Amino acid sequence: MSARARIGVLALQGAFSAHAAVVRRIGGDPREVRLPRHLDECDALIMPGGESTTMSKLLESSKLFDPIAECLSAGMPVFGTCAGMILLASNVLDGRDDQRSFVAIDIDVRRNAYGRQVDSFETDLTLSGDAEPLHAVFIRAPRIERMGADVTVLAEYDGAPVLVRSKSVMAASFHPELTDDDRVHRMFLELVDTVEHR
Ligand code: GLN
Repeated sequence: MSARARIGVLALQGAFSAHAAVVRRIGGDPREVRLPRHLDECDALIMPGGESTTMSKLLESSKLFDPIAECLSAGMPVFGTCAGMILLASNVLDGRDDQRSFVAIDIDVRRNAYGRQVDSFETDLTLSGDAEPLHAVFIRAPRIERMGADVTVLAEYDGAPVLVRSKSVMAASFHPELTDDDRVHRMFLELVDTVEHR
């Protein structure tokens, strides 16, 4: 399936078009998701960076929150980056009281934890099992402060995990869609290929 896996990209707000471009470049079939019915044509979902509090509100007003929650509990693979990672986390620290998350991966994340003085920065990461460094862009990024035993670390920075996986869920603190390096998206498409869904 991977060659033309239909990868929904949540397109309510934030960096969704860059994700769609990477998915297309590596042979997937990106679909913008703005309405509940768009989910019917997706094998998997990407939640982009942006502003998690705004996305949480738009997920409610577009009536997408509950259908997405159902897809995720049915095992649809999902990849959240930055704000998208916050939306997937089991616990959000320094969030707004009314901000919702899907509790799809057992991590606690603290919003904006990397950059009170410096909003964004770039660094090279080591991907697990890969000698080639991965250049990573962090923008007001969330920091993972706790993770459950079933969560695997795929990359770390400054003593904290920044790319993790648990079952059909991947999450990154940084923005892999903003560099030319496709490896993180390829990992997700491989995951989509191996997870049985529908
Ligand atoms: N700080 C943002 C938030 O809470 C995330 C930033 C990003 O996605 N680049 O949602």
